[in-house]
Amino acid sequence: MTVPIPPTTMDGYLRDNEILSVFWSTGLPTCDRPRLGVAVCVVGNMPWEVFYSERMPDNSCIHAELKLIRTLEFLFTNTNLFHTGMGHRLNIKVFQNYSPCWHCASLYCRLLHILRRRHFNMSLSIHFVSLYQICWDEADFESSPDYLDRATHDQNVQGLQNLRNQGVILRTFTHQTWTDLRLVLGILGPYIHPGYLMGVSGIPVNSRGRESADRNAKDSLGRILSRV
Ligand SMILES: [Zn+2]
Repeated sequence: MTVPIPPTTMDGYLRDNEILSVFWSTGLPTCDRPRLGVAVCVVGNMPWEVFYSERMPDNSCIHAELKLIRTLEFLFTNTNLFHTGMGHRLNIKVFQNYSPCWHCASLYCRLLHILRRRHFNMSLSIHFVSLYQICWDEADFESSPDYLDRATHDQNVQGLQNLRNQGVILRTFTHQTWTDLRLVLGILGPYIHPGYLMGVSGIPVNSRGRESADRNAKDSLGRILSRV
């Protein structure tokens, strides 16, 4: 299998444990909400690349998975990088600290549509730590944070349902996912793209809080996807 060759310079690169820290602190009540979105992509069995969200001068934000989807779409439509020796079957696994917003969800669906039209059998699984702008407990929407409004919540829920309906596997993090991500980042280590230097060394030790947050995310996702 041929995959794009990542850059080799180490200057300004986010270390693998710093990326893991961003994931680890996402959705933890005891940590500030990370402003950085990260998407780590594995193609087949091969860790491929890390994408970061980016703040624009007008304060809008380009989501990490949007960059990932655009890159995949470009590679599939303009190169044969992913076609060599793989037949027409492709497994893509993405680790994100936040679930895809409705817009990115629709772009993921479009990517699947494009590939299926080209008779590419792509399976996509997205593993995320925390739900992005979705209220954990709809029954208690009034106590949700200021930045979250009902319309955005409904759109983002719809986006996840659309992904599920397209056959995308959606999972929150488990102990196994944390282990897998750590392994993937360890392999990507020297090749991680420049991002925000967080000044974080090591992983915050708060596994009980993490387990409880992961359980909450799993329950919330279960509620969302159990609806028709
Ligand atoms: Zn998005």
